Amino acid sequence: MDTVINIPAVEIREIGKVKETAYGIVKAEGFFSCIYGQLVEFESGTNGMILGFNRNEVLIIVLGDYHGIKVGDSITAKDELLSIPVGNGFLGRVVDCLAHPIDGKGRIVADEYYSVFRRAPGIIDRKPINEQIITGIKILDLLIPIGKGQRELVVGDRQTGKTSVALDIILSQKDTDTICIYCFIGSAYVNFRKIVNKLSSAGMLPSLIGVCVPASASSAEQFISPYTAASLGEYFMRQGKDVIVIFDDLTKHAWAYRQISLLLNRFPGREAYPGDIFFIHSQLMERAGNLKEELGNGSMTFFPIVETLQGDITGYIPSNLISMTDGQVFMNTSLFHEGFKPAIDIGLSVSRLGAKVQLPMLKDLSKGLRLSYLQYREMLRLMKLRTGFSTDIQERIRQGKILEEFFMQDNYCPFSVGQEVVFFYVLKKKILAALPYEAVTMFRKEFLGFLQENYPEILKKIENVNVLNEELKASFDNAIVDYFRKSRKRK
Ligand code: ATP
Ligand code: MG
Repeated sequence: MDTVINIPAVEIREIGKVKETAYGIVKAEGFFSCIYGQLVEFESGTNGMILGFNRNEVLIIVLGDYHGIKVGDSITAKDELLSIPVGNGFLGRVVDCLAHPIDGKGRIVADEYYSVFRRAPGIIDRKPINEQIITGIKILDLLIPIGKGQRELVVGDRQTGKTSVALDIILSQKDTDTICIYCFIGSAYVNFRKIVNKLSSAGMLPSLIGVCVPASASSAEQFISPYTAASLGEYFMRQGKDVIVIFDDLTKHAWAYRQISLLLNRFPGREAYPGDIFFIHSQLMERAGNLKEELGNGSMTFFPIVETLQGDITGYIPSNLISMTDGQVFMNTSLFHEGFKPAIDIGLSVSRLGAKVQLPMLKDLSKGLRLSYLQYREMLRLMKLRTGFSTDIQERIRQGKILEEFFMQDNYCPFSVGQEVVFFYVLKKKILAALPYEAVTMFRKEFLGFLQENYPEILKKIENVNVLNEELKASFDNAIVDYFRKSRKRK
């Protein structure tokens, strides 16, 4: 009789050894068949990822606490690339760079596992951008419209309202099905808490995922985090959802990668950044997009944020990102200090895709606004140098000032499309031209409240139609006349 020998399933694992360790970078020996991006596990239980090779040694970044790792510790190579859990359970949660929950609300059940460095959808999988994303910021929606699936950089000096613009964009997605992912990199944890509190008190939590990798996290963790956020978003995009991902901010991400590269003894290039920093960012930016119908029609829009020094957008990282995104919103420090908020520099900001898909009624109303505003700014500049202007120029400056007033907006107060249409319809009609400036300010502050109170159906109607028809125009005119009649009576 034949004897049956039961051989247990064999698992072949490669085990290496720590040769050197410093600041979260480990040089290891003993690996012979590992690949770039492969996951490894240290004896202490911490994970790491293979990031490069030298002759006879493998370079690993530690993803987590590196203090417990000692020279001579064993390292096990896992049979997988660095991947994270993704799924619906992540909505309303805050996670770290490996998508582990850090909000104390318990385990998250994964629907699937996605590689952190997933390949971007190919050209065949995509379709042209065909829908505008409503950001709730008047300047953006009218003059710098953004399309679903686009990448729009928010660039500016410190404290110029970059994060506020991003938060307004999230807040204005309130009554839509859009999923928002806020990836916080390299700043103080307390700022993240403030942002999440703000969003949760506005009721945004159910459709929000926070990826939080504060300054206290290692550079390796900071380096991974935007890719993690993109993978989390990609899951929803593949489910046919619209996703917005905010990277706040990629300057810190570039710093983290620079630190890793310097520790790995790679050659520093311009501004001491490694030569492949362009690839690192473009690899990320490519992952945004608009999927075709067969793949569920989902989209992923990116809003990377990047910091400039003294308004210099020709810096290495900002200019790289400008060249790999579809437009930029430039936040101007002097405008911010003059009180023009959001301090978006209309002259230097562009959107290369969204203008093609702007809502027809917003497109109608925005005609000529950019030019008149830029002419107004130029005239203001000349006024400082010369005196004695004609009455025509003085009148144009007055009109420009009204336009400027209309563009201003407090933070955390996104406008609905209806509100934007009403505002700029009034401006187009030149009803306010004859009024003193104070009355215009008053109108700006009061009119929406008045409409909501007395004519709530008008705002609802606009949201249902895409074109400003005669019937709507007539009801606007009626409401405006009523407002001025009542405000005169009050006086
Ligand atoms: P940092 O460089 O520190 O990240 P930031 O560019 O992200 O700064 P914010 O934190 O968004 O800037 O804003 C800086 C300050 O300006 C905040 O106190 C914020 O409340 C204020 N601010 C931003 N936008 C507006 C606005 N539209 N109206 C009024 N205040 C604003
Ligand atoms: Mg900020």
